[in-house]
Amino acid sequence: MQYVSTRGVADELNFEGVTLTGLARDGGLYVPAAIPTLDAETFRRLRGRPYADVAFAVLQPFVGDSLTAAELRGMVDATYGDAFHHPAVAPLVQVDRNDWILELFHGPTLAFKDFALQLLGRLFDAFTARRGGRLTILGATSGDTGSAAIAGCRGRDAVTIFMLHPHGRVSEVQRRQMTTVLEPNVVNIAIDGTFDDCQALVKAAFNDLDFRDGVSLTAVNSINWARVLAQVVYYVSAAVSLGAPDRPVSFSVPTGNFGDIFAGYIARAMGLPVARLVIATNSNDILARTLKTGRYDRAGVHKTLSPSMDIQVASNFERLLFDLKGRSGNAVSAAMEDLATQGGFALSPDERGALAALFAAERLDDGQTSRIMADTYGRSGYLADPHTAVGLGAARACLDEDGPPRVTLATAHPAKFPDAVAAATGVTPALPSHMGDLMQAEERFETLPNDLAALKRRMLDHLSGVET
Ligand SMILES: *Cc1c(COP(=O)(O)O)cnc(C)c1O
Repeated sequence: MQYVSTRGVADELNFEGVTLTGLARDGGLYVPAAIPTLDAETFRRLRGRPYADVAFAVLQPFVGDSLTAAELRGMVDATYGDAFHHPAVAPLVQVDRNDWILELFHGPTLAFKDFALQLLGRLFDAFTARRGGRLTILGATSGDTGSAAIAGCRGRDAVTIFMLHPHGRVSEVQRRQMTTVLEPNVVNIAIDGTFDDCQALVKAAFNDLDFRDGVSLTAVNSINWARVLAQVVYYVSAAVSLGAPDRPVSFSVPTGNFGDIFAGYIARAMGLPVARLVIATNSNDILARTLKTGRYDRAGVHKTLSPSMDIQVASNFERLLFDLKGRSGNAVSAAMEDLATQGGFALSPDERGALAALFAAERLDDGQTSRIMADTYGRSGYLADPHTAVGLGAARACLDEDGPPRVTLATAHPAKFPDAVAAATGVTPALPSHMGDLMQAEERFETLPNDLAALKRRMLDHLSGVET
C-alpha cells in the first residue's frame, strides 16, 4: 500500500513512512494511492465481533507490509484493551426511535482523539525501535489533542513528547489531564502567551530544519494519516451493528478540522453503505458555508461552547478536495495558494455537486446547542456534551427521521465540559471513576517565555539528559 501527497510532488511512501512523516514535504497531506475495499461478506462477518477484530480487518489493507499480521494484531489488542473503559470500546446508545449516539469517550482522556492517539503512540514506538534512535514529538494544544497525545505516548521507550499549552488559558480538567502525567518522557510546557503563540513556536521549530532533523521531530496533529485511519474503524463497527451492509446508515459528525468526518468518507469508499455524512459545525462554520455557497473562505475564530471545533480552516478538507479535483496535485496546490494569498477559493459547479451528493451540513450557535442539550436530557435522560449536541442538532436538521438510522458521534464525555452541560440541563456530570483523583493528583509543568531559542534550549537539555 502506497500513499501519495495531495500536492502531487512529495515522494510516495508506505504506511510506516507516512506515519513518521506527518505533513508531506511538499506541504500536502498523504492519502492512499487507492482505497482498498471490503466485500459485503466481510462486513457481515464483523457483526458482533469485538472492536479489536473490526480494527484489524479495517486497518490491515492500509498498513500493508509495514507490520506483520501478528504485529498488527498485537497492537490493536493492546490499543483497544484496558485503556478503554467500556467492553464495547465504542458503544451505541439509542436515544430516540431512529437516533443513536456513538460514544467515543471511554478512552483515557474522555474524547474521541484517544482512538487514534492510543494507536499512534504504539506505531511511533514500533517503527522507531525498528529504525533505531528516538523520536521527538512537539505539539501545541488548546485542549483535547494535548492530553490524548500525552496519554498515547507516556512511558513509550523511543518517544519523548513536549506539549505546549498557553499558560493559564486551558481549563483545569484539560490542564490536569496533561500535567498529572509524570513519566520522564513527557514534558509539559506552559508558554507565556496565547494558543496561537504556542502554535507559532511549534511551526518555527519545524521550519528550523537543522533542529528538526537533529532531534527527529514529528507532529501528532490531525493531518497524520494514521489518525484518520484509526477513526475509520468505529464507523464500520457502528454500521455493521445497525445492519450494514444490508442496511445503509447515516452519520452526523461534530466537525472541526474535518479529520473525523473524513474517516467516515473513507469508510464509505471502502464499501460501507453510508447514506449521508452530516458536517455538524458550531458558529465556526467554514464547511457549512462551503456547502451553501460553493466558496471556501477563511474567517476569524469565534469562541463557543464547543471549543474543540473552534477553527479557522479545516485542514483535512484538503484530502477531500484532492478527490473532488480528480486527484490533481496541481489543482489542489492552486486552491491552497489562493487560500493563503486571497483567503479563499471557489469550487466549480461539478465539484460542488459532488460535495453535496456526499455531505450535508448544518451550523448551530451556542443558544441552539444549549437547547439541544436540554431537550435531549428532557426526552431521554441522556447528558450530551456541547460538541455532541451540535451533532445531534445537525442530524435532526439534515436527516429524515424515517430514513436510515441516524448515528451521532459523541466526541467528548459531558464531564469534560461540566459548566456548559450544567447551565443547559441543571445537572453537573461527574467524572468517571477511572479518572480517579485527577483533581488532587500532583502536577508537573514548567513555564517558558514565548521564545523559540528558549524552547529549543530546553528541549535539547532534556533530550541530552541534563535536568534544569
Ligand atoms: C477534535 C474534536 C472535534 C473535531 O474533530 P475534527 O477531526 O477536528 O473534525 C470534535 N469534538 C471534540 C470533542 C474534539 O476533541
